[in-house]
Amino acid sequence: MVAKYKQYFQNDLQFEEFSKYHVIQLNDTHPIIAIPELIRVLVDENSIDFEKAVEITKNTFAFTNHTVLQEALETWPKDIMLEVCPRCFEIIEQLNENVVKEFKKKGLSEEAIDPYRIIRFDQIRMANLAIVMSKSVNGVAKLHTQILKDDTFNNWYKLMPEKFNNKTNGITPRRWLVYSNIRLSNFITEKLGTGDWKYDLTKLKGLEKFLDDEKTLEEINQIKYENKKDLAKYILENEGISIDPNSIFDIQIKRIHEYKRQHLNLIHIINLYHELKNNPDMDFYPTTFILGGKAAPGYFRAKAIIKLANEIARVVNNDPYVNDKIKVVFVNNYRVSYGEKLFPAADISEQISTAGKEASGTGNMKFMLNGALTLGTYDGANIEIFENAGVENNYLFGAKVEELNEIYNSYNPKEFYHTNEDIKDAVDALLSGELKDNDSYMFLDIYNSLINPQGGEKADNYFVLKDFEDYKKTHEKINKEYADRLTWARKSLKNIANAGYFSSDRTILEYAKDIWKL
Ligand SMILES: *Cc1c(COP(=O)(O)O)cnc(C)c1O
Repeated sequence: MVAKYKQYFQNDLQFEEFSKYHVIQLNDTHPIIAIPELIRVLVDENSIDFEKAVEITKNTFAFTNHTVLQEALETWPKDIMLEVCPRCFEIIEQLNENVVKEFKKKGLSEEAIDPYRIIRFDQIRMANLAIVMSKSVNGVAKLHTQILKDDTFNNWYKLMPEKFNNKTNGITPRRWLVYSNIRLSNFITEKLGTGDWKYDLTKLKGLEKFLDDEKTLEEINQIKYENKKDLAKYILENEGISIDPNSIFDIQIKRIHEYKRQHLNLIHIINLYHELKNNPDMDFYPTTFILGGKAAPGYFRAKAIIKLANEIARVVNNDPYVNDKIKVVFVNNYRVSYGEKLFPAADISEQISTAGKEASGTGNMKFMLNGALTLGTYDGANIEIFENAGVENNYLFGAKVEELNEIYNSYNPKEFYHTNEDIKDAVDALLSGELKDNDSYMFLDIYNSLINPQGGEKADNYFVLKDFEDYKKTHEKINKEYADRLTWARKSLKNIANAGYFSSDRTILEYAKDIWKL
């Protein structure tokens, strides 16, 4: 960028116009090292004064935060920095001194300055570096941006509120509908009489005039059925498991993490399995639970959750007493190309993260665009999905952020375990041996994480047991309501017709107008 700039603006030796022609949008904390690197290039290679280089840099960078999980906000150790990029470390030290000086001038005490320091205890706090040195700081959904302002970056927000803004994420409709769901795409074009919606997704709103047209609703159901047949065939070939396209396809596909609560889904399946075994004549619409996702290599508990899903699948799918009622599939190697087959075939989109923890989510939007109903918490972009499609056309459950913040210190998951039989039944199954008869303690770590605090870690940090009962009740509601196929199709169409807001075209245009000033 600097080399090209010098070619085009040979007379601007002071780089006066650099930030007018460049914006560097920092996509998370990973590329923040580019900040001292630009200063280095300007100062060391182009003889710009340090303070002047800082000004240019501040007007060039913008920072997008993607998570509020403390462990994901990077800190880089001083000793490694000194070895790998000593000059950048020197520049960061200078920037840190500037921050400290400026805040002292404002009258802040040493202690009050601590949260703002870029370097503390020989660690470089990359997010602090990005916030001081950027002209814009944004979150990726309304709730997430609010949490950044109120909590994660509240110290910064109080000093520089004008920097903070929201850009709700989006997805590209060309991949996630036109390419991956040809049946639905062609159907929409036929109904709207034009393919314009592919380039202005808000035009999907035009589908609302068919909300009470039975023929249209039946066609919606038929398309979903055909997509489910395709997926069933693909799953038989790839996973060796036979599933029924007439059953409810309830899908949770995303990276494995405790905050995303795949284990809430799994202990619910265990409890449901026991219920069906004990009560074979129970009124129940057959359901196929599909899960998929990768664990980070060093995340032991996430790998145990994958193992648990596979063990539940093995036991349930081989039990002839429940086999025509529930099936469980954990798909191998979940990735974009597998997603392209899963999203179009979903009836239910599981978006069950602990409220306040999922910054935005984008899988939730892919499901919505393909006509799945969201079973979700009040979290991330789920909230905006409920707002756009109507909460009455989806399934909201669970505690909200404010409630979780209030009970944070007093929460005792054991109370839920001891007072709710369904919870005890499902949690005990983790150790009973029924899921792995030759190693009853295989799931001891998951069990302990839910009810036995240890090693300084609190039990059930992600409020799985707190939300269980509401989750189960909401599943029961879904199971009843699915049988009314036309009402279900109407809800599905409502979701599709209101997915326009979640096009990445809209997101990118907002970045272009508000931050890049294009
Ligand atoms: C969309 C997508 C994600 C993100 O899913 P979330 O449910 O938003 O976490 C992850 N992996 C793949 C392969 C995806 O396509």
